[in-house]
Amino acid sequence: MLPNLSDYHRPETPEAALDLLRQAGAAALAGGTSLLATPDDDVRSVVDLQALGWRAIQAQPGRLRLGSLVTLTDLETSPVVMGAAGDLLRQAARHAGPNTHRNVATLGGLVAGRPAVSELLAALLVLGAQVELAGPSASVVPLEDYLSQAPGGLLCALLVPWPGAGSGAAEAIGRTPADAPIVHVAAWVGPGGARLAAGGVGRHVTRLAAVETALALAPGDQATAAAAAAVLEPPADFRGSTEYRRAMISVLVRRVLAAAAGLEA
Ligand SMILES: Cc1cc2nc3c(=O)[nH]c(=O)nc-3n(C[C@H](O)[C@H](O)[C@H](O)COP(=O)(O)OP(=O)(O)OC[C@H]3O[C@@H](n4cnc5c(N)ncnc54)[C@H](O)[C@@H]3O)c2cc1C
Repeated sequence: MLPNLSDYHRPETPEAALDLLRQAGAAALAGGTSLLATPDDDVRSVVDLQALGWRAIQAQPGRLRLGSLVTLTDLETSPVVMGAAGDLLRQAARHAGPNTHRNVATLGGLVAGRPAVSELLAALLVLGAQVELAGPSASVVPLEDYLSQAPGGLLCALLVPWPGAGSGAAEAIGRTPADAPIVHVAAWVGPGGARLAAGGVGRHVTRLAAVETALALAPGDQATAAAAAAVLEPPADFRGSTEYRRAMISVLVRRVLAAAAGLEA
């Protein structure tokens, strides 16, 4: 809820949107599923991004370009995304809440919101996605840095490199299949090594650097990788203690590595 909201804008160019967003109390509005549902006294005007036309999904040389206004349903149903990267992206999008939510929620809103749990963000992280920001000094930053540093700015697209040879897998544990995960892990294993990311282990979804380092030293060693995950200090809440989350992350690390290798955990 935005109790002090007084102005609504729908700019048609990125420049106009950036000018409006520089004003005090202005917030970008994409799908609105989070912004309009979260109490915030500071927001006085919303800048609706929908007229900017950033809803394209494009296969470009060496990468996939996903406009920031692509909805989670667009991602799930796009023929360009279907089957890409071992179907990791499409499957992760499908798990992001009910379809009424996925029909409206956008990729840009998800990234900017930096949630602690998101299977889609974990999939994007292991695929090496980058964030394209609009503005005079238009820049591209690794998604990993965007999530950890929160640089702000107006997101116009996500760039996802085609991963080439390799395979991916993702696993989650929740109270029910329909509930948000308590913890989740995604992995991409290719000739260049293994990349893993997890949610439910900190303030935002993150790469599992200690596990990746352990695997670089002992490729394919699931037990070592699972042990390396035990260094995490996940925050506790009503859905799971620190100890439970840590133990489950180790289990999921083992499972995703086995699945990516086509083995049973
Ligand atoms: C029923 C329900 C289920 C949900 N399930 C999940 C879930 O399973 N997983 C999950 O991760 N989240 C979930 N959420 C949280 C949230 O809805 C999502 O993170 C969603 O993707 C946000 O997208 P949006 O387009 O609605 O963003 P908005 O609500 O429009 O915006 C969210 C934030 O991002 C900013 N923003 C939006 N677009 C941009 C942009 N292009 N550039 C810069 N800033 C921008 C806004 O200013 C705002 O601060 C759920 C929410 C609801 C209501």
